[in-house]
Amino acid sequence: MPNVSGVRHAETNMYPATWYAETAQTVPVQPRLESDISAEVGIIGGGLAGLQIAWQLSQRGISVTLLESQRIAWGASGRNGGFVTPGFAGDIDEVEARYGQALAKRLYQYSKEGAETIRSHLHAFASDCLMGEGKYSVSRYPASKAMRKSAERLTRDFNDPVEYLDTSQLRSKIHTDRYFDGIFKPNGFQIHPLGYAHALASQILDAGGQIYEQSQALACLTVAGSSRRLVQTQSGSVKVNHLVLCTSGYDTGLYRPLSRAILPVATHVVVTEALNQDLLDIIATRAGIADTGNACDYYRLIDDNRLLWGGKITTATTQPKNLDAQMMAAMMDVFPTFGSLRLDYRWSGLMGYCRHRMPLILQPEKGLWVATAFGGHGLNTTAMAGNLIATAITEDDRRWQDFANFGLLWNGGVLGQVAVQGSYWWMQAKDQLLETKARRSLASTTV
Ligand SMILES: Cc1cc2nc3c(=O)[nH]c(=O)nc-3n(C[C@H](O)[C@H](O)[C@H](O)COP(=O)(O)OP(=O)(O)OC[C@H]3O[C@@H](n4cnc5c(N)ncnc54)[C@H](O)[C@@H]3O)c2cc1C
Repeated sequence: MPNVSGVRHAETNMYPATWYAETAQTVPVQPRLESDISAEVGIIGGGLAGLQIAWQLSQRGISVTLLESQRIAWGASGRNGGFVTPGFAGDIDEVEARYGQALAKRLYQYSKEGAETIRSHLHAFASDCLMGEGKYSVSRYPASKAMRKSAERLTRDFNDPVEYLDTSQLRSKIHTDRYFDGIFKPNGFQIHPLGYAHALASQILDAGGQIYEQSQALACLTVAGSSRRLVQTQSGSVKVNHLVLCTSGYDTGLYRPLSRAILPVATHVVVTEALNQDLLDIIATRAGIADTGNACDYYRLIDDNRLLWGGKITTATTQPKNLDAQMMAAMMDVFPTFGSLRLDYRWSGLMGYCRHRMPLILQPEKGLWVATAFGGHGLNTTAMAGNLIATAITEDDRRWQDFANFGLLWNGGVLGQVAVQGSYWWMQAKDQLLETKARRSLASTTV
């Protein structure tokens, strides 16, 4: 059916009308759970966290059943920017300052292995989901000292070779005077996240794993006298020895300590019509680009020379009415000549955060696992969780315990939400001040 901009949006097969939903290769809709079954491992939530864990287990011959309320990767996992890099939503320098270098190094290494896992999947069974190589992190005000130091530390201490770029090097790749310093991450890459999630699902099904869609877990009970659990849906149930909760920003309150810890945070994406050659020459790279600001613009050129542009992080979980105008204003602030572009797609998604901004990887009760709260850095870290949780269940591997410092902290309820939004505004105001200073000093030197 044509939309106002004249572009046909696919019947989205129960997905929001995103560019991804229109272009992904998908597995057929999976059945609802309509009987009482059992499995060694049950997983609630069919985003990339649940899928990565199910993939790892199914490859090891473990019987696994995954329940998803909607469709596979219907949440953040099928709507994100598609940028894959090592690291976490939380700042690794803060982790190091608080818990020491040895732990910070181990955690970073796991996060790197998560990115490498995705890379190996792309090679093995999802090559059409690789969309671009490399990622730039860019500052909107002069930050050469901090960025140089960060590049040196990542390369030296975390074995993640990255390259510092000064203003002229950076602006030779991305033609805007809004950016000052940059870090290029050659190991970063971009994927089609919804297509990738479906490639994983297809592998899980081939290996004998079971996926039930439109099957919301409504209750999760402990079987008397054991650590087994019974998960009930509207029309069926599954009894399991291990249960993994991967519900993230779409959590429905199944396990109270988790619901009290998760803070859903919204971010939004638009996709433009195809750029003409003049506009393509302004972003002279197919790498991903994200600024270091708190509102964080992230964008990349995608198929058909369209521009995918994301940003505007808020604790208000609804899509703003004037989203197009806000996103266009953000885009034109960096690239003033992009104002004539038509926006063909727009969507929003929820990320799950915990107050410490690090993933929740824990076993709060015997046989009950939590693998969620990956925030805005969830592609590599969901794959990392797949590695850690699957080896914990099958080989009694204890690496997951390295996340013990990052527990189920209460999110503060409504007041917590207000406080986090307040801190975003405060940090965005600080960014704005630094940017204004940079622009003023640029203006005074060019007069
Ligand atoms: C717009 C946007 C851009 C982003 N960009 C990037 C990026 O470029 N790079 C990056 O690394 N990260 C990015 N992220 C973050 C990343 O997408 C997430 O961290 C990651 O996808 C989280 O995966 P998940 O499986 O934990 O959660 P989700 O993908 O949100 O999945 C949770 C699933 O649980 C299901 N569920 C909830 N409750 C129940 C229940 N009771 N029963 C059954 N199912 C249930 C939901 O339906 C949902 O499908 C972005 C996020 C968004 C929203």
